[in-house]
Amino acid sequence: MTEILKVNTCIVGTGAAGYNAACRLKAFGVDDILLISENRVGGTSRNTGSDKQTYYKLSLSGSEPDSIMEMARTLFDGKAVDGDIALCEAALSTRSFMHLVESGLPFPTNRYGEYVGYKTDHDPRSRATSIGPYTSKAMTQALEKECMDLNVPFRDHLQVIRILSDGKRCVGLLCLDNSRTDEIHFVAVEAANVILATGGPAGMYGSSVYPQSQHGSSGLAFEAGVRGRNLTEWQFGLASVKPRWNVSGTYMQVLPRFVSTDSEGKDEKEFLLQYFDAPEEMLSKVFLKGYQWPFDVRKVENGSSIIDILVYMELSEGRRVFLDFTKDPANGAFRFDALDPEAFNYLSRADALLKTPIRRLEKMNQPAIEFYRDKGVDLEKDMLEIALCAQHNNGGLDLDLWWQSNVKGLFVAGEVAGSHGVYRPGGSALNAGQVGSLRAATYIAHRGRDSKSDGKTFGELLDKAVEEMTAIAVEAKDNHSNLEETEKRTTSLMSSFCGPIREEKTVRDFVDQIDGILSGFCRNVKYSDPSELKRVYKLRDNLIAQKCYALSMLDYMAQGGKSRGSALYHDDCGNKPYAFLPETFRYSLDDGSKDGLIQEMSYTEGKCAFTWRPVRPVPDEDDFFENVWREFRKDSNVR
Ligand SMILES: Cc1cc2nc3c(=O)[nH]c(=O)nc-3n(C[C@H](O)[C@H](O)[C@H](O)COP(=O)(O)OP(=O)(O)OC[C@H]3O[C@@H](n4cnc5c(N)ncnc54)[C@H](O)[C@@H]3O)c2cc1C
Repeated sequence: MTEILKVNTCIVGTGAAGYNAACRLKAFGVDDILLISENRVGGTSRNTGSDKQTYYKLSLSGSEPDSIMEMARTLFDGKAVDGDIALCEAALSTRSFMHLVESGLPFPTNRYGEYVGYKTDHDPRSRATSIGPYTSKAMTQALEKECMDLNVPFRDHLQVIRILSDGKRCVGLLCLDNSRTDEIHFVAVEAANVILATGGPAGMYGSSVYPQSQHGSSGLAFEAGVRGRNLTEWQFGLASVKPRWNVSGTYMQVLPRFVSTDSEGKDEKEFLLQYFDAPEEMLSKVFLKGYQWPFDVRKVENGSSIIDILVYMELSEGRRVFLDFTKDPANGAFRFDALDPEAFNYLSRADALLKTPIRRLEKMNQPAIEFYRDKGVDLEKDMLEIALCAQHNNGGLDLDLWWQSNVKGLFVAGEVAGSHGVYRPGGSALNAGQVGSLRAATYIAHRGRDSKSDGKTFGELLDKAVEEMTAIAVEAKDNHSNLEETEKRTTSLMSSFCGPIREEKTVRDFVDQIDGILSGFCRNVKYSDPSELKRVYKLRDNLIAQKCYALSMLDYMAQGGKSRGSALYHDDCGNKPYAFLPETFRYSLDDGSKDGLIQEMSYTEGKCAFTWRPVRPVPDEDDFFENVWREFRKDSNVR
């Protein structure tokens, strides 16, 4: 049975972006809306954080000059970024930030009320701020409260399983009510506008620091005709696997021991030591990982990212890797004053030239110990298991300067939207999510509040979708489920072959395997318990996404793309900066020739097609006030 709902605008996702879209629409007087989520308390924003979770904004303190154009240029300089999007993210940064402040978020000010900032990665100013480890969680809770105060209609447990679109226009959604396990209960939403705020496609990777509750829905969007862009661009970094948490900042600066064991936890060895002439050389690089957190291929040779590679290599041999804070590395056979001066000075100023990493951590950041203790890991005695994990997708779905995708009526906001390029300042994801949801809401309030969906097309697409999704539910049902095994296998292959290290042949083999599963989906994927059906649809979504992402990597290589950002592409003719590295790690750095280009991917009937186009420049318009005001009064700026 299918329940049908009809609204002007449906917002999908209860992360920081989805809630913001909903409250902005309500505040703009668009009342005919519905916010839905597969899991109100799921997603990245609510369930993640880091040492000091960063929000990037225009400078709002001090005497250093900053401007919207300068911030736009910083974002644009991330490479493969559209200039108009960068300008919007800069222009609406202050408004979005102040909205959060007014919602009660305690961003720190000095005694005069200035929002002082600090420098984050890829940031020429000190634009970053934070309220502590849980900035995005607090944003989500504050925005949720605002939605409740505004009486935003909400339905939980609606998992989108098909976006109803003819490839040009979106007319609604088909959802599974995933709280019902007694029978299959579909809920369709007919809507003139949909804002997809479903977060990054986290479910694709096995080694991941995204919360377990986050999967994403990018595969569904590709299937609906939405183009992907910059899909090759991710951020990977070292993170603990249980709990999932970035081991950045002080966790590295206190110089922990890097230990590996066999799969059963035996045969312990301090594996980093063998690769360095002196422990101080190794430890100086470990220290730098603290604030050079994402794996950056430019920092492999003579830089801190060699640590990521060595961890990755150890894991590839089937071993497990841990951080040990209880003992000093190299049995303490190192001298603090022989460390890189940056590391030595920092530890010395922090009064942390102490024996053992745990004592140094206790001195520099006691809450970092408590954090793990609260999650059941006692760093005083337990080792912390880590991996090189997927953390953020810089690319994503197509968007114009109102965050509307190439499928009309379908807007994308938050991490699902591909507004970033190869590099981005730390904290700009949260800014982009707030700005994008505000832009989409603004456009709908001006141009879409009276739009009607095409009922006939909706009916036809819905019938087809219900038929196909019912067929999957019926045909994939079996006495024995292989869901878990299939999820594990495909996600771990994705991490091995399409993660930070990529090689043409293995990516191609991976695509063949995914194609094999997708082409006979109901033959290959089996579930036994009705409560597993939601995972069947998710797996299908993930497989489509994995295929699109992996093929984008192959196209990138075929177009001569070289190593950049958080991705090392094997190159037979490249350089191997350390003799001990296996051949896989021979690579060439990107020469910048693709900085001004965006790779776009379209997925039609199971096939991916690619185009490359120049980035749109940062707009440079003559904004004479009287002219802008006239246009504004005529409401013609929203176009
Ligand atoms: C460890 C870690 C640290 C980070 N640190 C920073 C940082 O310091 N600064 C920064 O700017 N960014 C950081 N990020 C990134 C940032 O947190 C995310 O990009 C951001 O929170 C994403 O918000 P969102 O609203 O787009 O999506 P999410 O918060 O992920 O929300 C997605 C929502 O969509 C729902 N959903 C998904 N699929 C479906 C479906 N099919 N049907 C219905 N609902 C669905 C989910 O349940 C959820 O409610 C970090 C990320 C991680 C993992």
